[in-house]
Formats: sequence, structure tokens, C-alpha cells
Amino acid sequence: MADSSRLIVVSNRLPVALVREGGEWTTKRSAGGLATAMDPILKRAGGVWIGWSGAQEEEPQEAIELLRQEQSCIAVDLPAELLEKFYEGYANQALWPLFHSFPSRLHFASENWEAYIEANRRFCSAVADEFRPGDRIWVHDYHLMLLPGMLRERIPDAAIGFFLHIPFPGSDIFSILPRGEELLAGVLGADLIAFHTHLHLQHFRMSLRRLLGIESTVDRVEAPGREVRLQALPIGIAPDEFLGYQDKPETQAELEKLRAQYSGRKVIVAVDRLDYTKGLPDRLRTFRRLLSSHPEFIGKVVLLQIAVPSRENIGSYQELRSEVHELISEINGEFGTPDWVPIVYIHRGISRPELVAVYQFADIAWVSPLRDGMNLVAKEYVACQPDGNGVLVLSAFAGAAAEMGEALLINPFDQERTAFTVARALDLSEDEKRDRMLALHERVIRNNVFAWGDRFLMLLDETVKIRREHAPERPPLLPVDELEDAYRKAARRLLLLDYDGTLVRLAARPNEATPDDNLRNLLAQLTSDPANCVMVVSGRRAADLERWLGQVPHLGLAAEHGARWRLPGSTAWQGRSAETQWKDSVRPILEHFVDRTPGSFIEEKEFALVWHYRTIEAEFGDWLATELVAMLEGMLAETELRPYRGNKVVEVKPMWANKGALASELAPEYAGAGFILAIGDDRTDEDLFARLPEDAWSVHVGGGPSKARYNVTDTVRVREFLYRLTRQDRKTAI
Ligand code: UDP
Repeated sequence: MADSSRLIVVSNRLPVALVREGGEWTTKRSAGGLATAMDPILKRAGGVWIGWSGAQEEEPQEAIELLRQEQSCIAVDLPAELLEKFYEGYANQALWPLFHSFPSRLHFASENWEAYIEANRRFCSAVADEFRPGDRIWVHDYHLMLLPGMLRERIPDAAIGFFLHIPFPGSDIFSILPRGEELLAGVLGADLIAFHTHLHLQHFRMSLRRLLGIESTVDRVEAPGREVRLQALPIGIAPDEFLGYQDKPETQAELEKLRAQYSGRKVIVAVDRLDYTKGLPDRLRTFRRLLSSHPEFIGKVVLLQIAVPSRENIGSYQELRSEVHELISEINGEFGTPDWVPIVYIHRGISRPELVAVYQFADIAWVSPLRDGMNLVAKEYVACQPDGNGVLVLSAFAGAAAEMGEALLINPFDQERTAFTVARALDLSEDEKRDRMLALHERVIRNNVFAWGDRFLMLLDETVKIRREHAPERPPLLPVDELEDAYRKAARRLLLLDYDGTLVRLAARPNEATPDDNLRNLLAQLTSDPANCVMVVSGRRAADLERWLGQVPHLGLAAEHGARWRLPGSTAWQGRSAETQWKDSVRPILEHFVDRTPGSFIEEKEFALVWHYRTIEAEFGDWLATELVAMLEGMLAETELRPYRGNKVVEVKPMWANKGALASELAPEYAGAGFILAIGDDRTDEDLFARLPEDAWSVHVGGGPSKARYNVTDTVRVREFLYRLTRQDRKTAI
């Protein structure tokens, strides 16, 4: 599969620049890390790259053609106003600060969010236009988090991967993000979601749980009808892009200049985009502290700070630039001498030979972001040390730290200790330097960007293969025509309908899920046919069912998962009478849990006690539920009672009270007589499906595996097809 299916890469920016020279358009491919990684893969698999071309106005048709023909690139049209709100507004002033754990820099405006949705839609259309069956789609980064979900809706079977290149923040920080739930749901449209580190992945899982109430395991999460794979997959660099430059004459010339300029001095290099996440002011202040606390370095050490201009339209970036400039002139003014400048500042992008020469020459690389998804500078510096020279001082808050344990790790917020570590780096023995650097170098060369790309696509292929193979295990969609046909032919029919999650949508609190008039009308239509025996089979109390549905003529009711029932045409409840003494010993335990978790509550039924915890923090709630179940299991082992875990509930009830037992009671009368239909959405309904004759029409509502023969997606569809059986206009049903 890997080599036969095309790849569609989608990122905010295309890896090309469109240049107009003397009225003629030409294209120039950029040498960014991602482009370098994708190019060989794209070449091998064939395919295209979809993104924004960087053009400020709509490109003429000839330029668009050129992009496609020469570069296999497709430009997404983003009008200037949309682009500003989407890119500078939501992506860079809401997502960027928040994902880097700078909530105080978050700027949210709802029109920026709307623009983000619109831009993602445009990307979706561009991808859908290009997509051919069998293609794989790889979506990159925080600009396009809604895109996987949009694509899943448009092309349900597509292979979709998503990689986040920036950190994923802790769930308490993520929960600050307005519209964060929608972003999470959007990303879940992918088959594979990957991050640079396990920590980012864990943060994502915690947010799924806290914000969407979705559980996951270390490497997968169950989305409706699909399993989504989660992975930590740190990106690497293309070693040749750096090592390959070392012997070039331009690089050698730069090296000569550096040697001449800094002879007899040690050079610490720092290379950053001028971004507040990179911690430039903190580094400068720490350097000042180093010079004060270690005067022996005065005149002997130079900090070579290369700061690449970035996002200069955004106010906070302009402020940062001023702050950095001021600090540098202060420090140089305070410590400099006529023949020594402590900080050499280069405020522009530099050429590859210059960069490689600086990396190769510097005694130390000081990489100190306050937060970073990965940080490629750390890896590039290490790649340029094949002989094991140099020392890497690295922030523990860069994603790179997770795989670069041989670096000297620092907390950039702790200036005193960081200064101490930099001093140590300056004095490190040759042996220790070499041991550390060679281990790092070897790993950076091996775990390169090509290995990263291959691994991602291999995982994507594997995940999609499993999804496609397992799809038949999930019940197929209900063939409504066939069902209707069987229904019409039958002389007698039994209809067993679950209530919550089947006839009505699930609600946050049990008493909010009351039936509407349309539902009563629908049930009355069904029961009006004398050939039908219709029963609502629910976990609810008999009194609730009677109050809500007791007026529907000839409707049978089964309460408390079948512990008691009322047959059609009768008002008398049958079944066992409730034995309630046990509640006196179980209730205090549940009350203790309610006291510990404000927001949770106890529901008392005739046969059962239920602890509900839907409104409390998900992880804490689930943890307590596990504790409660374990406690009750021990306590009730010798009795006929058991604790059952449901959807944010723990229910204590007798083992015999289940829908399967009820089915055994009712179904034999209808076996062979014609038609049995059972519909339900949760675990208790599985007992029912298991006990029905093989030819019964068992229908599971929603995603996930089930013993039912068929599946429908939601309560709306359930009502639709039931209404069809009554031959009424469906619009009045829903
Ligand atoms: N870089 C650059 N121009 C320069 C100096 C450096 O493009 O003048 C590159 C550098 O080689 C590295 C990238 O910028 O590949 C910075 O990547 P990193 O992951 O460190 O940070 P990001 O800017 O992506 O947040």
C-alpha cells in the first residue's frame, strides 16, 4: 500500500515561493525541514502538496498552473482579510500562545474563530477536489485542526493523518481556549494523531477526557464508529542538509572568518526565531548573571545571538524585539571593553553556509525555549558535531529534551542554576564533552526526518487497514426497506424499544430526558395496530415510565431493566416485588461518595441504587467509580446484588434484573410468529440482543461493537424508521 497510494500533504504554507521576475512567474522550492522530509516521500508515492502560496493577492491562472506542473503544489485561495483573521488572529494569537502555555497572551475574537473555520473549509474543498480513492492525506499542524473532521464527513473512508508540530498544553490550560471542544472533535476525524512527545500526547488525552468525556488508552481512542491511533513521534532533521555543507568552500570561508574573529575566546551560539516562546530575554538576563557571578569569563566568552525576525505585524512581537534590543545594549554597555563585545547580535536570517559554520565553530549551543514543540536548532547543532565537539545546553521544556538526555538540561526560568550550568559547560572536560556529544550525534543522525515520515505513514497505513478490516465486525447499517417488508408481512409483531439514548437523546441529568409529544404520538401510532405488541424497556423506575408514557394506549412498559413490567392493555405491574433491606447498608457508602464529590448524586429506584457522576471532573469521577465498584464487589460478593458501571453511573441492582431475562419471558410467544424488533444503545441492551431468536431484528444505536445484527447512527434515525413503519409523514416524528 505504502508505495501504490498517493500522498496528499496539507499544511498552512506551501514549500515554494512564487516569484515574479520581469513579468514572468517562476517558482522556488524552500529548503525547510518539512519540505525536505516530504519531498522524497512525495516523489516515491506521487502526490501533491496543498497549502497557501504566501501570495497576498489572488495568483493569476498561469502562476497556479506553474505551481502544479513544476512543484506538484496546489494553492488554496485565502483572501487577505480571511488570512489575517485566520492566521494572525486565531492561529497565532489564540492557539500559538495557549498551546505554548502562555494563557496571558491569549487573544480571542469570535470573528477570528469564524475565519479559522472558513479557512479550514477552503482547505477541505481543495483536498476533496484533488482526492482520489486510495489516497492518503497527511494534515500538518495547529492551523488545520478542524480539517480532519471536515474531511471525514466529506470522504468518510479516507486515510487521514494529523501531526501537531507545537506542544499540546496541559488540560487546565487547554480548557481556557474558547471553542476548544470543537478543535478536539475536529482532530478526532483523523485515523492517526501524532505529537512530538509522550507528554503532549498525555495532555491531549486528558483534554479529551475533561472536555469531551472521551476515554482513551495510551495509544488509541474510540471515536464514534472508529478507532483513532495516538502516537508520540518526534520529528528529526535531514542530516545532509547540514553535514553536506561542512566541506563546501562557502562554509569553510565562513569558518575562517569566525576563527580569526574569535581567536582565544569561547563562543556560545543561540539561534532563535524572535518569538516570546524562545526565552530570549531570560537568556540575556542569565548571561548577565553569568558574567557577574563568574568574572573569570569576562573578555573570554562571547554570546553570538542570531535572532530571525518573525510575525512582525503582531504587537507582542514588536515589544519583544524592543526588549531584546534594550537588554543587549544594557549588557554590552555594562560589561563590554574596547576589544570585547559580550553579545554579538545578528537580527536577520542567515545563509545555510553561515549557519553550518557557526554551528560547527561554537563551543556551546544555548537552546533555552520556555516552551517548544521540538526545537530543531538543538538537533542541527548536534548534527554538525561528527567529531564529538561542543556542548548542548538545552531547556527541559523543549520537546527535544525528551530524546536528548545527554545534553546539559536547564530550567530557563531559573537564572541562577542556568548560569551555573552554562559555566559548567564552558569548563567541561574533553572526555565528558565527547561522550555526551557522540551519543547525541549518533541518535540525531539515525532518528532523522526520513525515518519520522516513514514511520508516520506506516502507522497510518496500519491503522486504516485495521479500520477497514474491522468495519464488518460492527453491525451493518439497518436495511430499512427489508425491515419494512418483513414488518408488513408479519401477522404478529413484538417491538422492544429502549428509552434513554434510543427514543430520546441522553441528557446530563436523568430527569431532563422527558418524552416529547412527537414521541408519544409515534408510540401511539405503533400501538394502534392490533398486530403489534410494543414495549418500552428501560432502566427507569416504573413510576417515571408510568407518568411519562402511561397514557399511550396499549403501550407495554418494562422498568428497571426488566425487573418489573406492565403488558400492553394492562395497568398492573408484574414481576418480583422489591426487596429493599440491602439499601440500608449500601446507601451510606454511596452517600459517602456524594460527600466527597460535590455535584454527584444518588438516584433511588425500587430495585436499585445509582450513583451519578456525570457533572464532576471526569478523571476524578472515573477513579472514584473504580474505587466504589471494588468496594461494593467485595461487600456484595455473597449476595444476589452486583455493582454495574454504566455511562458515568454506578448502579447497584440484583443480578436477575436484566433485559435478557425479560426477553426470555416475552420472546417465545413471538418466535416463528413473525417479527421481533429490539432497539437499544448501551450495555444493558446487549443482554437483550443475546437472548433473542436468531432471526430477530436487533438494532444497536450509535458506534462501537455490539451483538445486534444491525446498526443505526442516532436517535433521530431511530424515530425516522419507526415512523416509516407507521406510514406517517416523518417530519412530524422528529
Ligand atoms: N533557521 C532559519 N534561518 C536562520 C537561522 C535558522 O531558517 O537564519 C532555521 C533553523 O535552521 C531551524 C529553524 O529555523 O531549522 C528553527 O526551527 P526550531 O524548531 O528551532 O524553531 P521554530 O522556529 O520552528 O519555532
